[in-house]
Amino acid sequence: MEKFQVSLIRYKEVFTSVRKAVLDCNGFKHLKPGDRVFIKPNIVFWTKACKFPKWGVITTSRVIEDIVVLLKEHGVTDITIGEGIVSDPEDKDTPAHAFKTLGYEKLKDKYGAKFINIMERPFTRIRLEGGISLKYNQDILDSDFLINLPVLKSHNQTVVSLGLKNLKGTIDIASRKKCHSPNPEKDLHYHIARIADPMPRSLTLIDGIYSLERGPAFDGRMRLTNLLIASSDMLSADLVGAKVLGHDPADVGHLVLAAERLGRPLDLSDVKIIGEKIDDVSTYHEYDFEYVKNKDGEMPRALAKQGIEGIYYRKFDQTMCTYCSAFNGLILTAIRQAWQGEPWKGVEVLTGKSMEPSQGMDATLLIGKCMYTKNKDHPNIQKMFAARGCPPDPDDIIKALHDAGIKVDPLLFSQIDTLPGFFMSRYEDNPDFDESFFQVSDQCKIGQ
Ligand code: SF4
Repeated sequence: MEKFQVSLIRYKEVFTSVRKAVLDCNGFKHLKPGDRVFIKPNIVFWTKACKFPKWGVITTSRVIEDIVVLLKEHGVTDITIGEGIVSDPEDKDTPAHAFKTLGYEKLKDKYGAKFINIMERPFTRIRLEGGISLKYNQDILDSDFLINLPVLKSHNQTVVSLGLKNLKGTIDIASRKKCHSPNPEKDLHYHIARIADPMPRSLTLIDGIYSLERGPAFDGRMRLTNLLIASSDMLSADLVGAKVLGHDPADVGHLVLAAERLGRPLDLSDVKIIGEKIDDVSTYHEYDFEYVKNKDGEMPRALAKQGIEGIYYRKFDQTMCTYCSAFNGLILTAIRQAWQGEPWKGVEVLTGKSMEPSQGMDATLLIGKCMYTKNKDHPNIQKMFAARGCPPDPDDIIKALHDAGIKVDPLLFSQIDTLPGFFMSRYEDNPDFDESFFQVSDQCKIGQ
């Protein structure tokens, strides 16, 4: 039986490394010069408010430019870069700012590669096997060939976030929320395992110039890793990517389900790796934030270490979608700042779509519409404080915390856009973390 080919190479230099990764796995074998090509990078987060660390978070513009040049050399002229950045779908300025800052306008000027904010484009509902349906961006459905450019990262809900997970950025916001289903049989992994079904033929190139622990966003730990992983078989690229991140694919729900559907093994026995040996390049990337149990219940280790008592902040689960999770870290930071050394009186904070109030708590905070709808009449609740929106309104979160006796600083919430900037200090003055990987020069690379 012919094996699925995956190239695993060290990133060394502009263009030649990407070319090697693609050609070694025969990644363009299904690509014709007249094809309409859709490039899907990973821009999981953006803000106009400040400069923030992007290493391992966002696909490097370096890899995107190199792939565009390679496509042009292959005779492809119809190239579209498309992403649906997580923000208010009505906010057109933030995606435009991201595309400009990341140099996509220059890619258009130099190579004619278009770029689109998929939130401004039509979506089409597609029924998938297993009784689920998602609304996909029409441009990607209409393309002949997909170049999928995820980042090499672990993820606090899905263990890894690679080729399959990157395609969640091609569906509309309602569908993204739906993916975080509370139905344990049709959960986030179930959706991700099917998400590539309507896609055209593809090449997956995992950008591991930088990798990320405890992704998907800027609060994880970034590493200079200098690897590229490529394959025209998305699942094979992801299986290798998971191993490179130090995770057994058998521990990654969506990879298990995707392999099962195709009758494929998880042990890479049907994959031929060209280039480096996995054992030589693999490094363990933690995927989760640590929570600890104590006499009050459960809370992140950082809160327990600070000596905080009287609050039960359970570990978020995979039903909490991106729009609520954007507030989770902020709420925890605000609680840490508000701590004055006096134990609170049994306050429980619930998030996501599945959690239920514990018995014996003095106050229960319900964060988001899902928690409010599910638990508002729950008999275990003594006093309820809720932020009922979807996503929750920051003012409602502040009020709920204040009403529960946790006097968080409202300023923190009004500065939510600038907080990512504080993470820059971790990487400043470290020459390994080079901002130019997220820029495009004026110089044209074709023919050099
Ligand atoms: S309330 Fe939160 S968890 Fe529920 S759908 Fe909205 S954003 Fe997602």
